[in-house]
Formats: sequence, structure tokens, C-alpha cells
Amino acid sequence: MLTAEIIAIGSELLTPQKTDTNSLWLTEKLNDIGVEVMLKTVVGDDELRLEEVIRDALKRSDIVMTTGGLGPTEDDVSRQVSARAVDRELIYHDEIEQHLRERFRAWGREMPEINKRQAFVIDGADVLPNPNGSAVGMLVKLGEKILAVLPGPPREMKPMFGEYVLPKIKERSGDVLVRRRIIKVSGMGESAVDEAASPIYIEYSDVQTSILFNQTEVEIHLAAKSTDAVEAETNIAEIAERIKEKLGKAVFSTTGETMEEVVGRMLTERSETLSVAESCTGGLIGMRLTEVPGSSAYFREGAVTYSNEAKIARLGVPEDTIANFGAVSAETAEAMAAGMRERAGTNHAISVTGIAGPEGGTEDKPVGTVCIGYSGKGITKSVRIVLPGDRYLVRWRSSQAALDYLRRQLLKTSV
Ligand code: ATP
Ligand code: MG
Repeated sequence: MLTAEIIAIGSELLTPQKTDTNSLWLTEKLNDIGVEVMLKTVVGDDELRLEEVIRDALKRSDIVMTTGGLGPTEDDVSRQVSARAVDRELIYHDEIEQHLRERFRAWGREMPEINKRQAFVIDGADVLPNPNGSAVGMLVKLGEKILAVLPGPPREMKPMFGEYVLPKIKERSGDVLVRRRIIKVSGMGESAVDEAASPIYIEYSDVQTSILFNQTEVEIHLAAKSTDAVEAETNIAEIAERIKEKLGKAVFSTTGETMEEVVGRMLTERSETLSVAESCTGGLIGMRLTEVPGSSAYFREGAVTYSNEAKIARLGVPEDTIANFGAVSAETAEAMAAGMRERAGTNHAISVTGIAGPEGGTEDKPVGTVCIGYSGKGITKSVRIVLPGDRYLVRWRSSQAALDYLRRQLLKTSV
């Protein structure tokens, strides 16, 4: 398998003002053709360090790509430094200069003399045209290795890579294909997921598996590499199916759908409607639901009833319920859901009331305690959970838990 590394060039990329996104994009494209990116570096506009990094990269990796620093100004050093790093001269190309002059003329300007620098190309390199900017790229073949020197602006770099660099890399990598699948799991911790899934995935040596915990869910990332598209697809479908079977209802998506898309799809399929009563999530569930195009088909309304008074006035939660059991209680969550469903006239309603912190926790109800209510035809129920994390995470995880609770109720009464 070919290995690659990426060097992002530009002092601004070391500051908080500008993030290197080129390497992320390039990594994805390279992974898709089975080339593994092993390392990336961000280097400021510094000739010595850049030369050292390019030299080292070419010792380690089959493919080295740099982005940035091809402009005409003094701080754009990639051209001469990459030439030095491969011990070659820069050669002046008159046709590049003439082409640049024409482009400037077409923009109604004279070419500034400093742009002449952009007509110099590493001896023996392929010139990569840049229809979206002034800097041409370069591709240097060094025995079995490839060095590609690309411009920094993403709108110039991406098409240049796709059109001129990718085909050359494919020539070397062969027709390795990668098929990916993400299995999303809710209501289980990372280690529990791994314990259940690992006996399955270790059987597949051609499928790379990684388990990630993001803010609201555990994801199992599968990547199958093969020269045979059918084989890759079969392998990945089989492993995904087996993991799904093992984890059961905890798996909510194998196609990349978000939780809000999954419940939206389920409601749409059943032509049923939903309303939401939120307290500690402050409208987050409503926001997530309405981010999905077409959500007006099933989402009727949401209420942010943050205070006790609002819970009483808007949802009809009995004053006694809050007084006797507290605002964060199974009883209040159920009364919120039932009241919401009745007032909105929807098939289903969910509610959330909890303690997001950092203040407000007690021994009995620590920060992260969340009660989720559900009300549907002939049924009102709730669940109490304790979620880890700071205020931000507790709110996000509450919204996820509530949507998941709804999903599980819908599964029980699937049509
Ligand atoms: P130019 O001819 O525009 O000067 P260049 O090849 O010299 O092109 P840079 O000057 O390094 O490129 O970068 C130009 C702009 O491209 C940067 O201001 C930044 O917005 C964007 N850019 C550069 N490198 C990256 C990167 N790694 N990720 C995302 N954006 C980048
Ligand atoms: Mg520049």
C-alpha cells in the first residue's frame, strides 16, 4: 500500500486565524483510493525548515504533497525550496510567463513584474495548469516517489489535484478501492460497544475498524480495502450486518443518517406528528428536528418551558406535581409530555427536564440528571438518566437521549 504525507505551508496556518483544511480534504481523497496518509505537517514560511521537512517527507513516504506558498510575493517560498529539496534547478518557462501576461491583460491589468517568478518550474517537473489562479502547480517524479507542489487556495488546489495529481497517483496505487460504512450507536458506552463488536470485526483483516465517541453517540467506522469492488462491498455489508444484529436496537443508523433524520424518516413513513416540550435543552431538540428538510411534514410545535410557571401555564403541568416531586422528576417529565401532546394535538410528544449544571445539582439529583418523557396514544412514560459532561455536553446528550427515546417507542409500535 502506498503511503502519503501532506505539508501545509503558510505562517498564517500556525495561528488561530486560519485553519489548514487542505490536508483534511486531501487525506479523504487519498484514503478513497487506498493511499494511507501517515503524517501531516504545518510549516511557516521559513525556507530552512520547509526544505528539511520536504527532504524528510520524501525519505519516509511514497507520495508527498505540499500546498501553499506558490504566490508571487517574497514570503511565497515553496517554488525555490521544493526545487532545492529535490536537488534540482528551477527552469524558466517563457510560455508560462506569456500565458500569465495574457491572463492579466484579460483582467484589464498589466502583469506585475514579480509574477514572473511564477514562470519558474522545477527541472523535469510536470506543469499543472491552474485555471482558477495564477500559480501553476508542479509534479515531480523521483523514482517511485511523487512530489506534488500545489497552491494554497482551496478553490485552486482541489481542481488541480483532481485533474492532474489523482490520475498519476492512481497509476501507482493500482485500482485499490475503499468502501466505508459508519454504524451509529446510541445508549451504549464506547467500551460496551467495543466489547460487543470486536469479536466480529477481528475476523475481517481487510476491514479497518475504529470506534469513536463523539459528543452524542458512539460510531463504528468501517473501511474495506480491495482491488475488487464487489468483494469490498460484500465484506463491509456483511460485517455491518453482523454488528448491527449483535447490538440490536442501539444501532440507529448504518447509512450516515443523524438521529433527527432517523426519527424524521420514521415519522414520515407513518404519517404521524410530533411535538416537543423542552426545559434544560432550551429549544435544541426543536432546532435539530427542523434542520432536516421536510420536517414540516411531522414536526408541529415545540415549547421551551424553562420555568416552573411556564410548565404549569403552557403545558398544564399540575402545580402539585412540581411541588411534590420537583421540576426534574419522572412525574414532571410525563406531565410535560402528556400536556404537550394534548395541546398540540400530535400523535407523539417528547419532553426533557434536567440539570445541565454547573450549579443546581444535589446528592439526590446530581448535575447531569435528566428526565425524559414520552406521550403517545394510550401511553405516557419516562426515563431518568445521568449524563456525563459539562453544560454544553449535557444539553446535547439530553437532546440525543430524548430523540432516541422517541425512536425506541416508535420501533415498539412499528407499522
Ligand atoms: P496565492 O497565489 O493566492 O498567494 P499560494 O499558493 O501562495 O497562493 P498561500 O499564499 O499560501 O497560497 O495561501 C493563499 C490562501 O489560501 C490563504 O490565505 C488561505 O486562505 C488559503 N490556504 C492556504 N493554505 C491553506 C490550507 N492548508 N488550508 C486551507 N486554506 C489554505
Ligand atoms: Mg501566497
